[in-house]
Amino acid sequence: MTNIFSDTIVALSTPPGAGAIAVLRLSGPAAIELTDGIFFGRRLSEQPSNTLHYGTLRNGEAILDEVVVGLFRAPHSYTREDVVEISTHGSDYIIREVLALLVRRGARLAEPGEFTKRAFLHGAFDLAQAEAVADLIAADSALQHRVALNQMRGGFSRELKDLRQQLIDFAALLELELDFGEEDVEFADRSGLLRLLTHVQTVVQRLLRSFELGNVIKNGVTTVIAGRPNAGKSTLLNALLNEERAIVSAIPGTTRDFIEDEVSLEGIKFRFVDTAGLRDTTDEVEAIGVQRTRQRVEQAAVVLYLFDLVTATPAEVAADTAALPVPSGATLLLLGNKLDEAKPETVAAFQQQFPDLVLLAAAPRTGLEELRQHLLATVRREGLDASSATIVTNLRHARSLEVAGEALVAVQHGLTSGAGTELVAADLRAALRALGEITGDISSDDLLGSIFTRFCIGK
Ligand code: GDP
Ligand code: ZN
Repeated sequence: MTNIFSDTIVALSTPPGAGAIAVLRLSGPAAIELTDGIFFGRRLSEQPSNTLHYGTLRNGEAILDEVVVGLFRAPHSYTREDVVEISTHGSDYIIREVLALLVRRGARLAEPGEFTKRAFLHGAFDLAQAEAVADLIAADSALQHRVALNQMRGGFSRELKDLRQQLIDFAALLELELDFGEEDVEFADRSGLLRLLTHVQTVVQRLLRSFELGNVIKNGVTTVIAGRPNAGKSTLLNALLNEERAIVSAIPGTTRDFIEDEVSLEGIKFRFVDTAGLRDTTDEVEAIGVQRTRQRVEQAAVVLYLFDLVTATPAEVAADTAALPVPSGATLLLLGNKLDEAKPETVAAFQQQFPDLVLLAAAPRTGLEELRQHLLATVRREGLDASSATIVTNLRHARSLEVAGEALVAVQHGLTSGAGTELVAADLRAALRALGEITGDISSDDLLGSIFTRFCIGK
């Protein structure tokens, strides 16, 4: 293949700091020759692709390290260029020396994400797949991993390319009509185009809806535990986290700082925030805590309002929950705690007024499984199945889908209102451009720059 890049880049591809092994990676036309200049074992330029070689790295006569070198010839490599991976012992000194040697001989230190950028520009994968590499590396839950892997392997891209292709076929016919100018010819079947648009819109809207879940999978669900002092908020958080992290005390008003932690339920991350108690207070420090609690509630996706079934009254619970600044779109769950000590008739009165009430006892840890199921239900939206459908996790992709969706609405509108071919074709082109930006079929230097500089060096 022809080389797009004439220079050869090098970087440490494993995290900095002392590990057992460090991997330095070179990519570019001189990768093999440069390594041959410092590696003594076999001449790499005479070896076949996809092979490993043991030998020593030398700076002149001085041996720097015993290493294993992996050889990948273009196009059988990550970047599709000649690539050499040198596994050294993970000493900062060795890494520095080897990098300096290679740079002195003509290699250039790679910019962030440059290996992946080269792979993209050589057509190894599209933009959405390249972005999934970063997501895969960052994945720390089973679901996040599965979604990123599917995207990296091209599942999402295939779906988009399929949609685009269908639209391109129609756009071509419209452009043809335009070429004929004044004459009143119609090559494109309008009702067929409308049917196609409805189908494409359905897919675009499903993908857009999936972003809500995708965001949850990637960033977790912010779940704020609110309630009056001593309701049992810290105890509940401990029970959920299954460890003694929050400070539990019998003195009301002691949780002044927020305690946060993540719990993964069936692959979905919930980020729990324990808050200071909600109540009118004259204590200044605590007043700030109450104020901050309200701010946290405003940012929550799920708010758990917890109350003490023994001491609270239905009127108090109704007043507190009405005053909570729960954002629209967020879910408020009412939790009655200390079921173990509550009188059955009190519980019945609460249940009558609040039919959706979840009953539990945080200290002896009963009712937690039901709570977990309620939490999971808040993220399971209609029509979305986390286990099968493509899920959009990237804000950039969601934005482009939105633009595409709006342009498609304009096309639909233009067709039904009898607008000129010129207008319809322009809107269709806008939709195609937006869809093409996701996979990078249409890209600009700015876009590529903003994507790849977010990668670390060495990727
Ligand atoms: P917070 O101020 O809302 O965070 O309340 P804490 O978690 O600090 O708990 C206040 C008190 O209630 C502690 O003494 C807990 O042991 C007690 N407590 C919490 N949950 C339960 C429960 O389910 N049953 C009973 N009997 N006591 C509980
Ligand atoms: Zn507390």
